[in-house]
Parts: sequence; structure tokens; C-alpha cells
Amino acid sequence: MVGLSGVGRPMASPGLGVACQGLGASLWWPLKDHLSDEPDSVSLTFCVPPPLRVIANGQPAGQFLRHTDTCFVWRVTYPINTYNVTFYAAPSYIVQEDTFHSLSGEVVPLRFALLQAHTDKVAYLAEQSKKVLRAYEHYFGPFPVPRDGFGLVESPYYGMEHQSAIAYGNRFRLDRTWGFDYIILHETGHEWWGNHLTAADNADLWIQEGFCTYGESLFMEYYQGYSAAVRYLVSQRGQIQNRFPVQGPYCVNADQTRNTDIYYKTAWMLHTLRSRVANDSLWLRCLRALQDSFSFRTVSRAEIVAFMGRQLNQDLEPFFRAYLDHLRPPVLSYRVVQEGEKGVSLGTLDM
Ligand SMILES: [Zn+2]
Repeated sequence: MVGLSGVGRPMASPGLGVACQGLGASLWWPLKDHLSDEPDSVSLTFCVPPPLRVIANGQPAGQFLRHTDTCFVWRVTYPINTYNVTFYAAPSYIVQEDTFHSLSGEVVPLRFALLQAHTDKVAYLAEQSKKVLRAYEHYFGPFPVPRDGFGLVESPYYGMEHQSAIAYGNRFRLDRTWGFDYIILHETGHEWWGNHLTAADNADLWIQEGFCTYGESLFMEYYQGYSAAVRYLVSQRGQIQNRFPVQGPYCVNADQTRNTDIYYKTAWMLHTLRSRVANDSLWLRCLRALQDSFSFRTVSRAEIVAFMGRQLNQDLEPFFRAYLDHLRPPVLSYRVVQEGEKGVSLGTLDM
């Protein structure tokens, strides 16, 4: 998710929608509202009066009339986070389709649902989406939900990673500095980090937001090289606040979405770890192995830290503890001691 706090703006025509990350899906439908409880598939039916048309997650699976309402049926054929289940209703949605040739060899359907006034923007969305999908597939593996496809749906709020029906409210704007559409870049990353691999508790929301935000720098690296990726990370560093620990409390459905350090501080933690590993091919293999090993699984911090430790051949407990549990990041202090002709650096790490 990006910036859902108070960013709603009215659509040109009456519309309905829901985005509930943080608060949870029990905001609008009954369920055991905990991230560890993820359905393996979902069937969705929405009955609305004319002229409304409904877009939801997954694949369209028909429509029928009930009294004066039209009922729209959608099917999600993969596991899905409950907060990702959603719908969009507006009178003038036009759905335009395209395809993406995945690294897996599959042809992934692309679905763009735009309000009538913006149907000329579909080429822009398709071009941006394919560019992002290509880079993320390179690092993280094939697009995770090829049957259901990739979708962008025009929304009255900025953005949300609703699986196969991403909310798009960025008004077709490229970032002036970096040249990409930020909402497409960020929310598409969640198809891997958050939707495919999911934190089992809101306490660990840094897993989806942090890896997803770090993925943005890999997108920069894919198209413009490592130094551009570092410049991008530096541009985000000022948003680290160190006001709350990244790690939230377990088992209380803590709403972590307003702690922006789960995004930027975690991204910097991962970048720092890459530097510490000092072996890019090993590092990138580790990211890919996370996706392959926890495919459609809910995971905990303990599992992630142990798995990465095995992949990278080091005990990562103290490292993750320093960045996730402590308010201030670790500080490297050093002094130079003169020993004969040579200066010798003695470093200590304060946590
Ligand atoms: Zn996000």
C-alpha cells in the first residue's frame, strides 16, 4: 500500500470501493481476520443497480440479473490475503486487455479498467506495466498469478496492491526525477512481496513493504545500473524517521501501515545487508530463493531471518535485531591508533 491516509478524491461519476490493509477485511465482510489465515481461492459476487459495473480480483466469471440488479461474478484461483480482496464499482468502467509474455513461457493476461474519460491512457499503462513486470521477473521469478492475470483498476485513492486488480489512482503521471509511474512500480512489486510471499502477522508487515520498496531500487538497477539504484535509495533515506521500531507486536493485529520505517528503513536494511554480503550473485539468489521457497506461504520474521542466514552463510539474528527492534540504527564508531609507522583502525559497533 502507499499513502492511503486521507488521499481519497471523488471520482467523476459515483463509485464504490474498499481498501482495508491495516484495519483488516473484517471491516466489510465476516472472517477470521488474521493474516495467517489465507484462503486458497475466492469466489466473489456483487449485485449492484444499473448503471454500475463491478471489477474485482481474479478473472471475470460471468454475470446475471437479480431483480433489477446486475450481479458480477469474479474468481480468484490462487491464495490471496484477505485484505487484498476488493471490488470497484462505477458506471463507466471500460476494460481493455493486453498480454505479457512471462519468463515462465506463459502468456499472462493484462486487464486495464479505466473510466470512460481515460480510455486513451491504456497504452501508457500497458507500457509502464510491462516494463515493471520484466524487471521484477528478472529478480524475483515469474509473475506469480498468471491464470488470474495482472490488472490495474482506476481508483479514487492513490494505490493499493489488490491482487490481480491493483488500485491505480496516480493520474497517469511519471515521476519527474526517475521517469516511472510510482504506483505501478510499487504496487506491482507487491504481487511478489506481500501477495505471493506474505507476512503471517501484521507485526511483520515490514516483510512485504520493505522488500517491495527495496525492489524499486532493483528496478532502477535493471534499467540504469547499480549507481542509479543507490541514488534512488539515497533519495528515500530522508524519509526514515526512527520514531517507532520497525517490528510491531504480535497477535494483536497491530496496524503498522502508518509507520513509514517499515518501507524505507527496511529497504535500507536490505541494501546494507547486500553490502555486508559483498557478493551480488549470492544476494540476488537469496531474494529469488525466498520467492521460490515461500511461494503462496505466510511467513514469520523468524522464518525469514533463519532462511536468509542459511542462504547467505551467516548468523543474521543480531543484524535484523539491530534494525527491526531498536529505535536508532546501529552506529559504527572507530578511532585510529598510531602504532609505529602505521595507523590502525579499531572499530566498534554500537547497538
Ligand atoms: Zn506497499
